[in-house]
Amino acid sequence: MNEWGGGCIIKEDFLGNLPDKMNKQQLLEYDKEHIWHPYTSTTNPLPVYAVEKAERCTIHLASGEKLVDGMSSWWAAIHGYNHPVLNQAAENQLQQMSHIMFGGLTHQPAVDLAKKLVEITPESLQKVFFSDSGSVSVEVALKMALQYWSSKGMPQKGKFATIRNGYHGDTWHAMSVCDPDTGMHHIFNGRLPIHYFVDQPQCRFGDECTDVDVAPLAELFENHHTEIAAFILEPIVQGAGGMWFYSSGYLKKVKELCDKYNVLLIADEIATGFGRTGELFACNHAHVSPDIMCLGKAITGGYMSFAATLATNEVADTISNGSPGVFMHGPTFMGNPLACAVANASIDLLLSGNWQQRVKDIEAQLIAELEPCRALTIVNDVRCLGAIGVVELTKSVDMAVIQKAFVEKGVWVRPFGKLVYLMPPFVISKAELSKLCNALFEVIKETMEDTL
Ligand SMILES: *Cc1c(COP(=O)(O)O)cnc(C)c1O
Repeated sequence: MNEWGGGCIIKEDFLGNLPDKMNKQQLLEYDKEHIWHPYTSTTNPLPVYAVEKAERCTIHLASGEKLVDGMSSWWAAIHGYNHPVLNQAAENQLQQMSHIMFGGLTHQPAVDLAKKLVEITPESLQKVFFSDSGSVSVEVALKMALQYWSSKGMPQKGKFATIRNGYHGDTWHAMSVCDPDTGMHHIFNGRLPIHYFVDQPQCRFGDECTDVDVAPLAELFENHHTEIAAFILEPIVQGAGGMWFYSSGYLKKVKELCDKYNVLLIADEIATGFGRTGELFACNHAHVSPDIMCLGKAITGGYMSFAATLATNEVADTISNGSPGVFMHGPTFMGNPLACAVANASIDLLLSGNWQQRVKDIEAQLIAELEPCRALTIVNDVRCLGAIGVVELTKSVDMAVIQKAFVEKGVWVRPFGKLVYLMPPFVISKAELSKLCNALFEVIKETMEDTL
């Protein structure tokens, strides 16, 4: 039993007996000394909480506290944690292979996933490029756009345009199309390629969008379309750059302008995809079919890092018929079978359930139960769409103070800047969501209201 091919002996110690487990205090100390967390300092790190496990919508801290999850681990865990169906899919796939290179090889999980994605995304998207993270899928989308115009003999179309307050990831070129101010990347300004920005649309979701709202974009395209390869944006919901919901009419007009001026449209659905906004994809709110679409985050139900970039046949075929005749990208873990298998299970689970009603119910409850926040002086705006509820404050939170207050209330909510928001797993119960909404009100009141 311990003989594992090639005479390799697995020592008993290796089968389950991990070397001395650190106690919770040692773990946190080692973490503080050696590990970088997202956007943190190593010399003055904010406290982190050790998680032992997570199940459905509950995060179990090593300290024994239980927190209701309001974040879905950044849009990803739409089915909650430790889901038996997704666990089973991962276990089944492990018995076949967890990974195999994608150069020259293919497999059922990847083909199944591509088929599903082609079927459920807007019709014109027919080609799928798998990658390992959202940022990479954005890099891939941008490279596709550049290669497309270069193959068409128009390499001068080499810039990108976008709207302010967007967020498209942390890698180099993705960063260059993030908001230059709120995009958390301002220290790199001057080194990043310069692109075109128009103001964030002010027409809110549900409102009309007039020609005045798109006038700045129309003017930009009119003056610069010969240099612009693609327009990239997050459809309907701007996530990490401002948690803003804009009119579907705006997206429609963006698409019309892109068509008129020969600019490709890249829809970054990494945060919005798979039902979060009440439609399977946010583009569906405007019945817009982009030329290129990026998917990530919830694609595996939050199980592992995985992403996809979809393109039309026109984009793919033009690239392939041009020079050098191939699309120049190919990450090592492209098409990872384990991730594909879990993604397939996650999408099946989503589509076989009543997700649309669930998201509608969550939206109705968020609208009703975040309403009291409006009465607080520090609150500037409350907005909800699908399974996203946002309370915008008039000033930035003190992260150390507010994070601790949320944990003490038994919830996991992670604000940024002036934005305190909820995007719970779709399986959250009414009582759990009430707990989150109440905690939001109380914590904002208790930690922020006197700071005015
Ligand atoms: C999170 C996010 C990304 C980046 O994805 P990573 O997996 O963090 O690289 C890109 N675009 C949008 C809209 C996102 O929300």
